Amino acid sequence: MANREYPLARTRNIGIMAHIDAGKTTLTERILFYTGRNYKIGDTHEGTATMDWMEQEQERGITITSAATTCHWNENRINIIDTPGHVDFTVEVERSLRVLDGAVCVLDAKGGVEPQTETVWRQADNYMVPRMIFVNKMDIMGADFLGSMKSIVDRLGCHPVAVTLPIGAENDFKGIIDLMKMKAYFYENATGTEVDEEEIPADYADLAEEHRAIMVETICETDEELMEKFFAEEEISEEELKGALRKACIACELVPVMCGSAYRNKGVQKLLDGVIDYMPAPTDIASIKGIDPDTGEEIERHSSDEEPFSALAFKIMNDPFVGKLAFFRVYSGTLDSGTYVYNSTKGKKERVGRILQMHANHREEIDKVYSGDIAAAVGFKLTTTGDTICHEDNEVILESMVFPEPVIEVAIEPKTKAGRDKMGIALAKLAEEDPTFKTYTNPETGQTIIAGMGELHLEIIVDRLLREFKVEANVGAPQVSYKETFRKAVDVEGKFVRQSGGRGQYGHCKVRFYPIGTDAEHNYEFVNATVGGSIPKEYIPA
Ligand code: GDP
Repeated sequence: MANREYPLARTRNIGIMAHIDAGKTTLTERILFYTGRNYKIGDTHEGTATMDWMEQEQERGITITSAATTCHWNENRINIIDTPGHVDFTVEVERSLRVLDGAVCVLDAKGGVEPQTETVWRQADNYMVPRMIFVNKMDIMGADFLGSMKSIVDRLGCHPVAVTLPIGAENDFKGIIDLMKMKAYFYENATGTEVDEEEIPADYADLAEEHRAIMVETICETDEELMEKFFAEEEISEEELKGALRKACIACELVPVMCGSAYRNKGVQKLLDGVIDYMPAPTDIASIKGIDPDTGEEIERHSSDEEPFSALAFKIMNDPFVGKLAFFRVYSGTLDSGTYVYNSTKGKKERVGRILQMHANHREEIDKVYSGDIAAAVGFKLTTTGDTICHEDNEVILESMVFPEPVIEVAIEPKTKAGRDKMGIALAKLAEEDPTFKTYTNPETGQTIIAGMGELHLEIIVDRLLREFKVEANVGAPQVSYKETFRKAVDVEGKFVRQSGGRGQYGHCKVRFYPIGTDAEHNYEFVNATVGGSIPKEYIPA
């Protein structure tokens, strides 16, 4: 297609997923360093157009926001979709898994596969996301590449294939053997930009031969033609091996494994090569299915600029500079800034203001976004996470994202009266960004309730209220008034004295509660309880 800077075949939409502390942030930072010209290591936390832009993320050492950053590697465009690592935010992980084409899973070379790696791995299984693994932290005490390989087989139940080997480990970690090229790579300077290609050191020759043989056989097993060549002991070229591994990786049959140390700047460029070699381009992914909102008929859309425009909004962020930013993944067609789209989920038209692409340290305004790409729109009013946006005359609703219901609730109160209105507006904005966060006013107690996926999730909401909206708030357990539960209770044994209103003894009875906001039922026995009094703690539904 004319005017397309990067052909689809040279585009990768990838996520980086990891157990917390495995080094996802450091690796992302290094990727941005090696792919960017003016970008210095350590810049990630400065400025606004970075992966981890919220102060609290640095303080807590976790990644919460799910943004997308565009970078370039050897004439390829890589969109990195940030996937949060904390278990409370697995929904955010799912949301990003939905729009990416492939993922790099980062392991800590000492711990190997950890419980949370398993969680994100299973989620990626659900979406059939092709994956590769980067065994990071080869420089730390206890780093063990082959042990990590074993934990991949044992705990993830997938079929890994090592395409690189470390030279040395722990303090003695020096470089990388590329099993495809059968060469060794040494990183000569601190930032890892001077790389020497050398012959494999003699004391690693046997190990390299052994693992190359395993790699070749494993790859050939997935490809009939190569298998024949393998048995005939014919020469198999690097291109053939890479091509077959790419196919097997995209089919989720094999998982290429690489190693290095993000922190010590070793092996990251090799990983970038691996992303291009093995991760799918948008055209490698089967078409996306949607439905016609009028007829309910199934519609298929392909990664092509010629098809009608369709895209999925996967992240809404309120940006301090430009206001509401809607990140979307284009599945088909193209979109120009300043035009209109149809939000088929909401059934309303939206005007596209500016279109931005986020880079490591700057934002680029673009006129047009093409099929397979990821960008952020400024100016959408009603589009929220999970909505489909499409061409007005070619309506489609792409598979919708399903979000689980919140599991925990707390009451929240601003510390000052003046904070009340501000808090309402702020909570509404946060709920718009995050479909797993809910807020409502309990009509019985008048309390503002916030609900989310875990304690940390709500803690972060309260933190964001303070930092981004300057609202100081206290939280506590929601009040459960007797009145409230009583109104929703039914008498089970017919011994009630009064159904509602007023105070009065009702003696011993059994009551079934339907706690507000849930489907649960609870049976409680009361002995000499008082209508209108406060409910004894032990009766309050958990
Ligand atoms: P995340 O939670 O997965 O994003 O992990 P971070 O990137 O924040 O890394 C967690 C900690 O491990 C930080 O203190 C990093 O400096 C450190 N770290 C990351 N990669 C490496 C590595 O390759 N070697 C060493 N020694 N430390 C690392």
